[in-house]
Amino acid sequence: MSNALNNNPHRRYNILTGEWILVSPHRTKRPWQGKTEKNLTERRPEYDESCYLCPGNTRASGETNPQYTEPHTFVNDFSALLPDTPEEEVNNGLLKAESEKGICKVVCFSPNHSLTLPLMEVEDITKVVKMWKKEFRELGSSDDINYVQIFENKGAIMGCSNPHPHGQIWSQSSIPTEIQKKSRHFKKYWEKNKRSLLSDYLTQELELKERILSENEYFVALVPYWAVWPYEAMIIPREQHQNINQLSQEEEKAFAEIIKALTIMYDNLFETSFPYSSGIHQAPTDGGEYPEWHFHMSFYPPLLRSATVKKFMVGYEMFAGPQRDITAEMAAETLQQLPKQHYTKT
Ligand SMILES: [Zn+2]
Repeated sequence: MSNALNNNPHRRYNILTGEWILVSPHRTKRPWQGKTEKNLTERRPEYDESCYLCPGNTRASGETNPQYTEPHTFVNDFSALLPDTPEEEVNNGLLKAESEKGICKVVCFSPNHSLTLPLMEVEDITKVVKMWKKEFRELGSSDDINYVQIFENKGAIMGCSNPHPHGQIWSQSSIPTEIQKKSRHFKKYWEKNKRSLLSDYLTQELELKERILSENEYFVALVPYWAVWPYEAMIIPREQHQNINQLSQEEEKAFAEIIKALTIMYDNLFETSFPYSSGIHQAPTDGGEYPEWHFHMSFYPPLLRSATVKKFMVGYEMFAGPQRDITAEMAAETLQQLPKQHYTKT
């Protein structure tokens, strides 16, 4: 890429969604007079009697968690989607609505209340990957479930009310908007080139080596060229898999390894338990063939300059489109230079 473009306001194209992002690298020189202090590292106990996710504790629904020792799932007590919703439709002039069925589950990553993914052993993260696979397979095989969204909200700043290591799985009968957008772009590229859009993108990124954060035999973590969040990242399997159920045992472990490597970088960046929303985008489970799909995991972290200064999506972003100041290359360079060992363990 030409240097002039890199130093001046420009737009970058997201090949997966077809959307553009405004990049304003010249603004990174403006003086910063906000907060820069470090967050005090919060120490949590391994068991918290007031936590509704810890083993043996009773939840608001009155149900008691088993004394689980491995990743544990249950149906969300406050599910946004319900499996027995009656089928109804509104088609009244310009008013349009339809009922939606689904199942929402909670996945406790570990019985240990004090852990997070970057602090867990690879072997234990691999068990989480296996649990994601099992849930994807089981939920996706239901006639009423056409898409399975696996995600994690980490940190109070992301609206996560409980620090116990856990994620969620929402599965539903319709195909959500983000998946429809990506399906469209995967398909268009596949029809034209008979190759995966993300495989070709990965090849180009591996040649350039500007935005690569971590790689192993089966996976690559990078800052996407079109990143919106300051330290946004993406984990892409080298092999084109439509969904996580196609991962081999070796790939499950490699997936766990790269999740750990990336989240350690994140924690080390501001020496804090780094907040983010992460999610896995995969092909729909409606029984269709999706030869164009290439599953991937994205991380959207809000922190910008320190453990407390976050990026706000306001003003221009609410009304026009996303914008960022530091470029994806600057973010990648910062992350690449961090120690590979978690800051609390050195
Ligand atoms: Zn807990």
